[in-house]
Amino acid sequence: MTVVTRFAPSPTGALHIGSARTALFNWLYARGRGGKFLLRIEDTDKARSTDANRQAILDGLTWLGLDWDGEPIGQAARADRHVEVAQQMLADGTAYKCFSTPEEIEAFRETARANKTSTLFRSPWRDVAPADHPDAPYVIRVKAPRDGQTTLHDEVQGDVTWSNDQLDDMILLRSDGSPVYMLAVVVDDHDMGVTHVVRGDDHLANAFRQNMIYDAMGWDKPVLAHIPLIFGPDGKKLSKRHGATGAAEYQAMGYPAAGMRNYLARLGWSHGDDEFFTDEQAKDWFDLDGIGKSPARFDFKKLENICGQHIAITDDAALLHEIADFLAATGADPLTESQSDGFLKAMYCLKERAKIMPDLIEKAEFVLASRPITPDEKAAKNLDPVSRGILSELTPHLQNASWDRDTLNETCVAFAESKETKFGKLAGPLRAALAGRAVSPSVFDMMLVLGRDETLARLQDASA
Ligand code: GLU
Repeated sequence: MTVVTRFAPSPTGALHIGSARTALFNWLYARGRGGKFLLRIEDTDKARSTDANRQAILDGLTWLGLDWDGEPIGQAARADRHVEVAQQMLADGTAYKCFSTPEEIEAFRETARANKTSTLFRSPWRDVAPADHPDAPYVIRVKAPRDGQTTLHDEVQGDVTWSNDQLDDMILLRSDGSPVYMLAVVVDDHDMGVTHVVRGDDHLANAFRQNMIYDAMGWDKPVLAHIPLIFGPDGKKLSKRHGATGAAEYQAMGYPAAGMRNYLARLGWSHGDDEFFTDEQAKDWFDLDGIGKSPARFDFKKLENICGQHIAITDDAALLHEIADFLAATGADPLTESQSDGFLKAMYCLKERAKIMPDLIEKAEFVLASRPITPDEKAAKNLDPVSRGILSELTPHLQNASWDRDTLNETCVAFAESKETKFGKLAGPLRAALAGRAVSPSVFDMMLVLGRDETLARLQDASA
């Protein structure tokens, strides 16, 4: 059996980080099994679905590297097929026409409330022969089981049992002939050949309603896995109060996509004690067994930590690519060719302790800036007249030094000693002259990346 999973977002808002995790779980499950990962846009709520939200979802998934198979499927466009299935159920006698008016239904509920009985509507039309039907507006309802229980097996929740008297004869087609969402989900999952439904546990109750349609149509049922929501660090449902909740916000802050994938995978799923892993490992390890039953807590520190580890192992060219994407996504100027070259040369000394793209960019300032370097306020303090004098005395020593780390180190240390000071005292002014910043790679790394000519020119600029 080929595994087919799907992500079925409603384009009524941007891509939430919890939805991104749902997409990731489905993606990992399919990709780890040579299966298919499909995307279905559930746009039946016309009033709230927008093209901008649809695009934001596609962009978010693309940024996260969660590629889907084939074209995204639009749910609203499949309405005719949903209607066809409702008509089939009608023909099969698993659904019926209900002519009750909204007033009659409300009257039923009022009586039920007064009698303290169930307010789930029991239509008087359920068993009325078509010959006795009036010529009046109607809805099509499913014939829900009235007695007994339904037990659904869920890979995360275990066996979940509902008493059938909790199920109502839900509407499949409204009086204007339009299909309801619950029907659309089942028909689409069936037609798309979905074998595993992995989604938020806020849909668990829907599973029982959807199950009636599978039974009525005699269709194979998908494996179910309803995953717990994501909580904030305080154990309350993750919200803006805790920090960013939209995938796009993390992209705009410059979190690396590989780190996000790793962290989101760990949010509610575990593989032993492994915290840090590659995509390949995640695809290999991911299984529904590893998903926990209780809500995971979003831990911003852990996310940063994992992201830092991913930056450290990402190869330089790929990282440069990601930086370019980040700059484009945030509307910043693109890197020039020479800035890109410089970035690539410097990358080895930028990665340490970097957790997000802006950390790399900030440290790369020394290769991005061109002469004359304008020191920022902090760096300018290191370029007082005395320091400038020292830099100008150091310059001839560097002119003749061979340009490798050991020699540069020895030269600077020896020079500092000759001035009866420590090399540490030189570092601030050097940093200010070379980078114009207090945050930069080590002065030797900068010298090596910039090369002799550029280094000396910057020192001369600063000491002039
Ligand atoms: N459209 C639903 C949502 O965004 C998902 C439905 C499903 O996965 O079955 O919550």
